Amino acid sequence: MKPRLRFAPSPTGYVHIGGLRTALYNFLYAKQQEGTYLLRIEDTDQTRLVEDAIEGIIKSLTWAGVTHDEGPMLNEINDGIVEKGDFGPYIQSNRLEIYKKHALELVESGHAYYCFCSKERLESVREKQKSEGATPKYDGHCKTLTTDEINAKLQAGEDHVIRLKLPVDRVIEFNDAIKGHVSVNTNDLDDQVLMKTDGFPTYHMAVVVDDHYMGITHVVRGDEWLISTPKHVYTYEAFGWDAPEFVHLPVILSHTKKKLSKREGSVAVEDFRQKGYLPEALINYIALVGWSPEDGQEIMSMADMIEKFSFERVSKSSGVFDLDKLNWMNNHY
Ligand code: GLU
Ligand code: ZN
Repeated sequence: MKPRLRFAPSPTGYVHIGGLRTALYNFLYAKQQEGTYLLRIEDTDQTRLVEDAIEGIIKSLTWAGVTHDEGPMLNEINDGIVEKGDFGPYIQSNRLEIYKKHALELVESGHAYYCFCSKERLESVREKQKSEGATPKYDGHCKTLTTDEINAKLQAGEDHVIRLKLPVDRVIEFNDAIKGHVSVNTNDLDDQVLMKTDGFPTYHMAVVVDDHYMGITHVVRGDEWLISTPKHVYTYEAFGWDAPEFVHLPVILSHTKKKLSKREGSVAVEDFRQKGYLPEALINYIALVGWSPEDGQEIMSMADMIEKFSFERVSKSSGVFDLDKLNWMNNHY
């Protein structure tokens, strides 16, 4: 089976250096294995949308040469970078029915439940738990509602969410290509909200459904998502689906060894484009922040990187973004 990978940014702003590296590693592996690389816009959090972010994301990735292989056809021309007839990204807000249908399926099969708790109630539960020194989590209040109670509330049009019903005291395990074996007890996890009151899925719901239906074989993403993965693994199981391989990449640090952020200087790919950096140099440099080929070659074309890339050689510790090195490389091209 040919691998299928994806880069799945949220349209909350420009693609930053870390995102570009994630996209690139997905892309390199897909190309090397003659598989498929997809772009998926994860816009399920309607409160965080930034106007024109999708166009910006496509522009940065296209400029950097990290282009996706599949998706709905575009019928508009975007800035002359993306042409009419090119593949557009998959966009989650166009797929709401799929998530809804699957959430209801989980309710039916007893793997999820309706929760009608008000914000105020959830807040007071949290406060109480915190004051008792416990880690705040949903107290399972709505798990015991009867079918009649649920139907009455639904009929009355009460606001609700759908939550994942995690089993009590069960160990969830999976293997990560970089982090190794991960195991978590469900008692330490929360009954994750899958569908929100606004009818949108949460990231956790949409990511599982999409990765399954898009045939994703390798989920390669930043390691801030590692703690969410056990919930995803359980969700795959609840659907009776096989989980993909997981590859969680260490974050990129700034030269001061802090998490790379705007405060630490330029982090948006678009900034580098506007400053006149060569995309070949940026992509070459960024590949090396956290990975190196076996033969130690430093100056590499995209074709070289496709040939040499492997997840085994991705560093287990955080890479450091060094502007001097990038500048050196940029001058070298
Ligand atoms: N939408 C998530 C983000 O913006 C992607 C996480 C994933 O790749 O699963 O980082
Ligand atoms: Zn509830």
